[in-house]
Amino acid sequence: MKRLYNAHSRVDAFLVRDRLLHANIEAHVFNQHMASIAGDVPPDVAGPQVWVDDEDYVRAQGVLADFEAERARPGSLRCARCGEESPATFDLCWKCGGSL
Ligand SMILES: [Zn+2]
Repeated sequence: MKRLYNAHSRVDAFLVRDRLLHANIEAHVFNQHMASIAGDVPPDVAGPQVWVDDEDYVRAQGVLADFEAERARPGSLRCARCGEESPATFDLCWKCGGSL
């Protein structure tokens, strides 16, 4: 496996993982519970990380690039059902699947 992405937060890591799963790429989030020690170790070690299988790595990079391009667009929508924010480009809440 290879590390694809160092996430800023757990939510961030799972957003990326969901995108990869939708593209039929199996992805794993590691380190998701290590935020409590952030500050004691370098951020790229402490933060959640998204890993993919070697053979999926190149395709996963493409999915990640699309994801980051979308996220760079302004605006986010707050889900009326669960209160989570999703990028404005999403039709459905990433967390609960509610319509935005
Ligand atoms: Zn929701």
